[in-house]
Amino acid sequence: MTVIIDGKACAKKVIEELRKKTKNLDKKPSLAVILANNDPSSRIYVASKERQCLDLGFNSCVYRFDENIKQQDLIKLIHELNENDDVNGILVQLPLYKHLNEQEIIELINPKKDVDGFHPINVGKLNCNLEPWAICCTPKGIIKLLKEYNINLVGKNVVVIGRSNIVGKPTATLLTNENATVTLAHSKTKDLKEITKNADIIISATGKAKLIKANMVKKDAIVIDVGISKQISGKLVGDVDFENVKNVASYITPVPGGVGPMTIACLMENTYELFKLQNQKA
Ligand code: NAD
Repeated sequence: MTVIIDGKACAKKVIEELRKKTKNLDKKPSLAVILANNDPSSRIYVASKERQCLDLGFNSCVYRFDENIKQQDLIKLIHELNENDDVNGILVQLPLYKHLNEQEIIELINPKKDVDGFHPINVGKLNCNLEPWAICCTPKGIIKLLKEYNINLVGKNVVVIGRSNIVGKPTATLLTNENATVTLAHSKTKDLKEITKNADIIISATGKAKLIKANMVKKDAIVIDVGISKQISGKLVGDVDFENVKNVASYITPVPGGVGPMTIACLMENTYELFKLQNQKA
């Protein structure tokens, strides 16, 4: 029988662990979030990050900007947050307004406060299989989900679809570090079906609704759906044709309720880990 992977339950476990670890602390972990775009989805994500901080008793501060914000203003703010000992994690919600230079902003964040793990130093550490100060939240959440369900990754044939710096590439790197055999597919890949048909595990992160059909999936494969697309009706769907693929897969994540909750749980975990790092006694 197909197992529907319960991302909400797994995320709750991570959150409750954090609650135990942090409830008696004198000082609480603290997250600063910068929102400089007018993308409605970003507003929803930022609001849920704020809610989760509140629920855990973490401090959170959201800096919201309209499109008159200048690159220099953001640079100044990042410097201030880097210097502020009361801020443990800095998150820049992407994308930024088109006139802003995202990469310059990400590279200015102190890597020890880079809660999203996007700074080149953290990306480089991940690539070298050294311990980054923080690992990108969605990829980290995917690995945690697989481990929670005791899915063995060693030697498994895994295809990751999507090569973004925030999901696809770091997911492929983490899986490689876990000794899986990884293929990274993308929009220019020829004959995706030929690749997915041979995969023990498929992880799709494209944002193309129902890209992964049942005839692209090997019997009893494990299917992780990262994609989120909004249909005209307002309903959120993933990259996977869930209703049909679930009859072929052995494990599958739903959308919503799969990878999404793990992303926020891992963000809270990263905030706590950076807090610990910055409060270590010499
Ligand atoms: P992106 O647009 O930066 O990257 C999409 C990738 O998909 C690209 O590398 C592209 O080459 C690939 N792609 C597009 N069409 C393809 C096709 N037909 N075949 C193969 N590859 C194709 O997006 P992203 O930021 O990596 O996010 C991907 C999806 O995951 C989006 O739907 C996003 O909303 C979602 N997402 C979800 C979470 C979560 O917590 N669940 C977190 C981050 C992103």
